[in-house]
Amino acid sequence: STWPERGEIQVNDVSLRYAPELPRVIKNVTFHVEPNNKIGIVGRTGAGKSTIITAFFRFLDPESGSIVIDGVDITKIGLRNLRQAITIIPQDPTLFTGTIRSNLDPFDQYDDNQIFEALKRVNLITANEPNLGESSENQNKFLNLSSTVTEGGNNLSQGQRQLMCLARSLLKSPKVILLDEATASIDYKSDATIQKTIRDEFSSSTILTIAHRLRSIIDYDKILVMDAGKVVEYEDPYVL
Ligand code: ATP
Ligand code: MG
Repeated sequence: STWPERGEIQVNDVSLRYAPELPRVIKNVTFHVEPNNKIGIVGRTGAGKSTIITAFFRFLDPESGSIVIDGVDITKIGLRNLRQAITIIPQDPTLFTGTIRSNLDPFDQYDDNQIFEALKRVNLITANEPNLGESSENQNKFLNLSSTVTEGGNNLSQGQRQLMCLARSLLKSPKVILLDEATASIDYKSDATIQKTIRDEFSSSTILTIAHRLRSIIDYDKILVMDAGKVVEYEDPYVL
């Protein structure tokens, strides 16, 4: 069975705290996302944006409320299945120690051409011009699928690690993608590439993007504004 098939999300009155003795950092959050919609999540630092995304992977379960995808409460799905079915691209992604290939295709499901295609579509390799304005040495890393990825992916930039995660998602084409944009230190080119990939390649996926730059989400379907753990606005971008 392929869950989720449509990518409709309902977050129902979710409240969440990191530990019983700590205060609630998500407070009665409710919102609904139509299949294939692109939703931008914004709000000041500490508003709870990353925390709500974390809840989709059940690193932390709500103390009340529920997250429902295509009519199924995510607590009813096995953890392994849940984490395979939806894709989270964290603020500062960690890669596996290994190679470019083992990171993009850990279960050996794709041939080299499919992997190269995904790397091209996220602009980590380009036909002629050097990638990301950096040295061709850097580009060669992605042209050779056996290039080493050192612990956590620390021989790649944060932007490149996010692009690697996006390339992995392209191979899987998941219905639900949650992207926690890098806060700082991401170069303009990788940032623009990430947004362009989302627009061009994921038209039939539901995407929630935590955005730190408004230009990332100006053409999104809706913007969810969070403040101090609550939803304070949920509107078309032109209204805000
Ligand atoms: P930013 O824009 O800086 O990424 P954010 O909106 O993603 O901020 P969160 O990381 O979701 O904010 O944090 C929300 C609240 O939860 C903050 O008050 C933060 O201190 C707290 N918090 C986050 N992670 C933990 C943790 N592991 N343990 C305890 N409290 C945490
Ligand atoms: Mg965050």
